[in-house]
Amino acid sequence: MRAAAPLVDAPHSATADEVLVALRSDSSAGLTPDESRERVSRYGRNELPRAAGPGVLRRWWNQIRNPLVLVLVAAGTTTLAIGHYVDSAVIFGVVVLNAIVGYVQESRARQALDALTRLVRTDCTVLRAGQRHTVPSAELVPGDVVMLEAGDRVPADARLLATRDLECDESALTGESLPAAKTTEPVPERAPLASRSCLVHSGTLVTRGTARAVVVATGLDTEIGAVQGMVAAAEAPPTPLTRKLTKFSKQLTVAIVAVAVVTFAAGVLRGSAPVEMFIAAVALAVAAIPEGLPAVVTVVLAIGVVRMSRRRAVVRHLPAVETLGSTTVICSDKTGTITANEMTVVDVIAAGEVYSVSGTGFSPEGELNHRDSPIDLLGHPALVECLVTAVLCNDAELRHEQGRWHAVGDPTEVALLTVAGKAGLDWTVLRRNAARVDELPFESQRRMMATLNRESDGTVIGHAKGAVERIVEWCDSAMAPDESRVPLDTDAVLERAHTLAAQGLRVLACARFRPRDGTPALDEQDVRGRMMLVGLIAMHDAPREGVVEAVAACHQAGVAVKMITGDHPETARRVAAEIGLGARGGEPAVVTGAELAQLAADAFDVAAVDTDVFARVSPAQKLDLVEAFQRQGHVVAMTGDGINDAPALRKADIGVAMGTVGTEAARDASDMVLADDDFTSIEAAVEEGRGVFDNLRKFITWILPTNVGQGLVILTAVVLGMTLPVLPVQVLWINMTTAVVLGLTLAFEAKEPGIMLRPPRPPRRPLLTTDLVRRILLVSAVLVAGAFTAFQLQQHSGHSLDVARTTAINVIIFAMIAFLLSCRSLERFIAFRVNWWLFGGIGLMVLLQLALTYAPVMQVLFHTAAIGADGWLLVLAFTALTYLVVELDKALWRHKDTRAERVTVQQGKGHRHGTFRR
Ligand code: ADP
Ligand code: MG
Repeated sequence: MRAAAPLVDAPHSATADEVLVALRSDSSAGLTPDESRERVSRYGRNELPRAAGPGVLRRWWNQIRNPLVLVLVAAGTTTLAIGHYVDSAVIFGVVVLNAIVGYVQESRARQALDALTRLVRTDCTVLRAGQRHTVPSAELVPGDVVMLEAGDRVPADARLLATRDLECDESALTGESLPAAKTTEPVPERAPLASRSCLVHSGTLVTRGTARAVVVATGLDTEIGAVQGMVAAAEAPPTPLTRKLTKFSKQLTVAIVAVAVVTFAAGVLRGSAPVEMFIAAVALAVAAIPEGLPAVVTVVLAIGVVRMSRRRAVVRHLPAVETLGSTTVICSDKTGTITANEMTVVDVIAAGEVYSVSGTGFSPEGELNHRDSPIDLLGHPALVECLVTAVLCNDAELRHEQGRWHAVGDPTEVALLTVAGKAGLDWTVLRRNAARVDELPFESQRRMMATLNRESDGTVIGHAKGAVERIVEWCDSAMAPDESRVPLDTDAVLERAHTLAAQGLRVLACARFRPRDGTPALDEQDVRGRMMLVGLIAMHDAPREGVVEAVAACHQAGVAVKMITGDHPETARRVAAEIGLGARGGEPAVVTGAELAQLAADAFDVAAVDTDVFARVSPAQKLDLVEAFQRQGHVVAMTGDGINDAPALRKADIGVAMGTVGTEAARDASDMVLADDDFTSIEAAVEEGRGVFDNLRKFITWILPTNVGQGLVILTAVVLGMTLPVLPVQVLWINMTTAVVLGLTLAFEAKEPGIMLRPPRPPRRPLLTTDLVRRILLVSAVLVAGAFTAFQLQQHSGHSLDVARTTAINVIIFAMIAFLLSCRSLERFIAFRVNWWLFGGIGLMVLLQLALTYAPVMQVLFHTAAIGADGWLLVLAFTALTYLVVELDKALWRHKDTRAERVTVQQGKGHRHGTFRR
């Protein structure tokens, strides 16, 4: 239920405190869990209702307004006018049936896409009773205090309470493309929406900085809710392929209609009966127009989307399904995608002494040992100082609730709380006694974070942590065992960090500093060259399960895998070696961002291809890498999680965002989201993508001969002045039944074995290669020959016209069944794997044919007649012939192909990645 009136009038003209009072909330505590529950029932969930999409009528109209239907309606009307009532009824019946089938298919594709949008949740960070919680955005209520940072989507309309360099992209709401700067200062009550700089609005993006804000409106009460009212329904957008096919079938339709008109005119001029010629022309149009092709292709792609989501890869844009199959390079983040992001501190080094840590996971159970014996904290003041910094310069939370430990925040930071707990420190007390007064948030580019904390005696101390090179570069001294300041031995520290990193550990350095006097806010000048190093902390993060296999599968499939990370090159090298990233099992080649920056354009392109690991790279360099690969003809999948990754994600052929960590901004820019952030899902999606593309080719290869073959049958009959072997209504029957009952079952065909053993499909290779076109023509020819031969033979042996036609129809249908079985694999002789859809379809089709041939009603409707054993013999003969011809064609193709492959392999020697078969 919605509140009748807003809780706060014009929150932009009131001060932050006034708004908090009005909402009965608190800046540092937020609401209590009870209060928030109560408010959900009062104000409703923070959601916009989902629109139903185009109306039912509109969708029916979409089904009806295609050229084939127009042809049919014209035909139906004419047959009605000349008194062929049965034919007319059949034709109109088909129009209706056709619309129903199309409607159902479209609805199913839409449902599949709709379901996907629900798979990726959007969460936000909220304060409840003084503690940070991650909750689904839909559960926010007015009065909730939320924390925002760069990359977040603002979850509700909110009044800012505290900001730091906050900027929002509000183009979704105001149309203004430049980010708007935000502060907490009230503005005049009459200020327009775009100038209400102390408010953030639902649906806009935080592009910079951090903030704390109190929610003032949710759901439909938000500005975006007022404007938009509803969330648009998922649409199946046209993909490059469906667009091409739509164009293709449009052109074909025009051509066929032209041929039909010419046929009609020529026939009439030659003296044939206009009615007969009209029927022939209609038959031609109906037979040859591939009207359902783009729609069915969309359905096949949608089925692919569903298959990928079962493997935890959520496709956001339908074209990605097509592109995935031709991916040649996967660039993946290390932390969290290749590794599990379950950080466990194994070593702490303070004042030159090494402390090893036992215990795994984030529960703080385990202990610190020094020279193999447990420690007493009192004897190790430098260690304590290091851990205190690690706790204070830290946004994570770790709570013991209902007998379990719950972690919130960056796993790197959680691990630091865990180690402090193991050492016996209570981070809650430490944080209470040294409240944070300012901060420099962690940014990938800066590779460090700093805070200012006020001790209980009033002194303010700066704490920092970050990548070792960064911290050491900005330190001028180090802490000695007795906590005194001593000169820093930079080389020794870096050497030590290198040794730890070479074991695959992520190393952070902790440092202290004194803030400069009189500066209002913390900035880089406070820390540059002014810090004192207090220690190093090394943590372990194991590769995810299944990554080794997935990388091997990619390599076998000719897909290069590159690791891209902000981490230390040695850490990355070790992890890369563990997961087999080195070419041919060798040592992985590592390059750092700094080294990349030195390279000229040509050398950069070469380095991109030859390197396995890119360490300490910036998001901007990710974009450069994508472009370098694309220049060399690669199809690139690139992962990313931060807002700065958005350009690279957009530019990549497949931008891959994270579903659990990572920002909304990255998800927005991506084509695919990994529900579990797991690298293996990318490999799975590539595999499924190849499967979907295969099935598409199979389907199209199978369906085109029906059109081409039947079209040729009728054209030949007209040109030679012969009786039509199939009537328009019979052509309609064939087209209506086969596409859905037989053809669509190919979409459920399992992936062929060895799908990941062949090289990627060259991006520019057309869907229908010359080999396939040849096969389509071959089968069409067999169909034409079969239909005519059966028709003529039956007539010669004294059967009626209806019997002869019924035999011809059965020849066509059963030959299509044989071809369907062949099409289960375009290359090999199919091994028997069960596709129940396909076998069920064939069974149904056989029953339908028996009904068509023997049921009296059908005989009346479709002008058919019972056929005898001689008829079935012909059917059998041509069915077998079709199968034989296609299998022979396959055998020839295979022969040629293996030769081509041998050549490629020879040429590919010494060339590490990306050998395409063009
Ligand atoms: P990755 O690609 O592994 O996710 P990041 O860009 O997140 O790399 O981190 C780069 C470096 O910054 C890390 O190697 C680490 O030294 C440091 N770092 C990572 N997280 C934090 C953090 N929360 N606070 C301070 N420093 C961090
Ligand atoms: Mg990271």
